[in-house]
Amino acid sequence: MTKLKQTGKETQVLSGFEILGIPFQCMEAVNKRLEPLVQELELNQGVKIENPHKGYPSAGTRNVSACIGNQVCQFANYNTTEFARKVEKSIFPNDYHVKRALSGCPNDCIKAHMQDFGILGMTKPEYEVYRCISCEACVKNCSKNATGALKVHNGKVKRDEHQCIGCGECVLKCPTSAWTRNPEKYYKLLIMGRTGKKNPRLAKPFLEWVDEASIIKIIQNTYEYIDEFIDRTLPKEHVGYIVDRTGEQVFKEYALKDVNLGCEVKEYL
Ligand code: SF4
Ligand code: SF4
Ligand code: SF4
Repeated sequence: MTKLKQTGKETQVLSGFEILGIPFQCMEAVNKRLEPLVQELELNQGVKIENPHKGYPSAGTRNVSACIGNQVCQFANYNTTEFARKVEKSIFPNDYHVKRALSGCPNDCIKAHMQDFGILGMTKPEYEVYRCISCEACVKNCSKNATGALKVHNGKVKRDEHQCIGCGECVLKCPTSAWTRNPEKYYKLLIMGRTGKKNPRLAKPFLEWVDEASIIKIIQNTYEYIDEFIDRTLPKEHVGYIVDRTGEQVFKEYALKDVNLGCEVKEYL
């Protein structure tokens, strides 16, 4: 999604789009047709449009990507497309080199661990003891596919919340729906992952059991951090390299500005 300036009536919103197959010799004519739209764009920090007749610079900021989410996949703890749209709306247009990906669960099919920001869906499973028939399917599944956070005690199941990673495997295996997903949405936020020829690396955990609004604010705050500390002699620079230079605590100070994390959130940095 791309925001357009207030036109005097109401703010118009234009969906992002790609036009395939434009012959190179026609680019100038196409850009000319797009110029009025480019001039109407409401710009985020760090974006400068020097030649509106040549489009706006967006090579750095990649499309937000997401796995198929809970519209299709039973493992998903949330609607990845909906959240991805909100993230997209909050950052475009922008030219800083930032990649974000959203996975519905810790299986991480979209490879959020290789992005500047990776968002993994978590669920806080709720147990209704009167439904439980003590079959232990949840316990075995958690032990086999997750972290072994469930134990049986006096015929009932206990969850160790420090060991639980919020994957939802227990919910899927329970034959009586004694485990259900809490309607509250929680996420794990990963940072500073990247691919590339030089120094590919896995993202680090930053926060766990964090909410959607906090994540959007943290991503927006990070653009301010980049604006402050990016090495402008380079054509582009990943957030991870900037954090390597400034130190994690400086990044954290910027990222968490005006973010109210609440007491449930687990911090890693
Ligand atoms: S990451 Fe999880 S929710 Fe997304 S497609 Fe893979 S298994 Fe499904
Ligand atoms: S959510 Fe995952 S880690 Fe937590 S208890 Fe259920 S299966 Fe185990
Ligand atoms: S799978 Fe469901 S019914 Fe079986 S022990 Fe776990 S909570 Fe109880």
